Amino acid sequence: MQTTFTAEQLKDSATRESNTILRTCVHCGFCTATCPTFQLLGDELDSPRGRIYLIKDMLESGRPATEEVVRHVDRCLSCLSCMTTCPSGVNYMHLVDHARHYIEETYQRPLGERLLRGVLAFVLPKPGRFRLALKGAALARPFTALLPAGMFKTRVRAMLKLAPKQLPPPDPMQDAQTHKALGEKRGRVALLTGCAQQVLDPGINAATIRLLTRMGIEVVIPRGQGCCGALTHHMGQTPRAMDSARANLRAWDREMQRGGLDAVVINASGCGTTVKDYGFMFRDEKPKWKERAERVSALAMDITEVLAKFNYAPTRAAPGLTVAYHSACSLQHGQKITALPKQLLTKAGFTVKEPAEGHLCCGSAGTYNLMQPEIAGQLKERKLANLNRTGAQLIAAGNIGCLTQLGDGALPTAHTVELLDWMAGGPEPAAITQARQPA
Ligand code: SF4
Ligand code: SF4
Repeated sequence: MQTTFTAEQLKDSATRESNTILRTCVHCGFCTATCPTFQLLGDELDSPRGRIYLIKDMLESGRPATEEVVRHVDRCLSCLSCMTTCPSGVNYMHLVDHARHYIEETYQRPLGERLLRGVLAFVLPKPGRFRLALKGAALARPFTALLPAGMFKTRVRAMLKLAPKQLPPPDPMQDAQTHKALGEKRGRVALLTGCAQQVLDPGINAATIRLLTRMGIEVVIPRGQGCCGALTHHMGQTPRAMDSARANLRAWDREMQRGGLDAVVINASGCGTTVKDYGFMFRDEKPKWKERAERVSALAMDITEVLAKFNYAPTRAAPGLTVAYHSACSLQHGQKITALPKQLLTKAGFTVKEPAEGHLCCGSAGTYNLMQPEIAGQLKERKLANLNRTGAQLIAAGNIGCLTQLGDGALPTAHTVELLDWMAGGPEPAAITQARQPA
């Protein structure tokens, strides 16, 4: 694709990067076939190719983003399915991240939307605030009927619907500390305990810690780490995302100096995709930060990669259960981890089934299900129908967003690591108990 950026515009590093990306696109349109929003809406401007054209025009013109561009970019899930399909290697992720930042800088959203986005960016990355907000949601639920009809009400309703009716209590296992390896020590890792995940389902981190320590791996929960920055990064709030990332880099660097790290382990694949991209995010920062970010990106591993590296082995007999494996977009498209979770589940003794349209997003996509509830709802129903058709007794996935999105369907859901922990001597996950109950 030809571009017409001026020499002045190309002095900006982000524009230079986008220019390179745009020039690799050959307009073939292969990506449209696997784009969830194009599948649902059938509008070229809601396809990757259409969005690429819109972003190109917006950036080249140097003018503020228009309502039309914002509408179509906002509808993008950042699922990155288009990157898997593209034969030319177009890095759509970096392009749309730049577009979102540009929109944030140049476009004024309606008041209600600014409010919601502000609240989400303030609340979600901080577990304490998020916990309080979820408690508040339970009280606010009956009052949504009083809100005037419109998108604001739809979004508030979507938020309240997603908020669980009962919250698990905080688990002190997730606090800053070192969990010693059991038996002979084979490695040392830092675990990113995340923000929303540790509130919604602390059992995921607990299973990760139990399993790794039983395998002889010391698990450090570093003081000072927090949200990976993905939530604000995808809202175009780059400085906020960079601050979150900087806090993590500082915390992990300290642990590297203290006792060395074999990996930074991430068990929410949405966060994993972002941490693996820290090297790119910090490319223009001072050498100290750039080097730290590159080191961390190289060390960042999804929990399934760590388990494979340290040769996970089950200790229980095969449970005679069939699992439908839902491949989170951030894992399959963002990190290109496709076979590994299924291989581990099979090794653990489960029969693993894959749903039809496995490449399509479930509609969760960070805060997407809150900001675009209609499209997210359609994708959810489509995904649940495909998962149910596998005939499995439960669903496994490696991302808290997907587990929350799919959690109120007919099948119980569990994080992959909870199932692997159980089969290697951990406690029985609630999803297994539910799956074994007679229909
Ligand atoms: S598949 Fe790749 S090269 Fe083809 S239109 Fe889509 S982004 Fe461009
Ligand atoms: S990231 Fe997903 S929703 Fe966005 S353009 Fe690509 S395939 Fe479509």
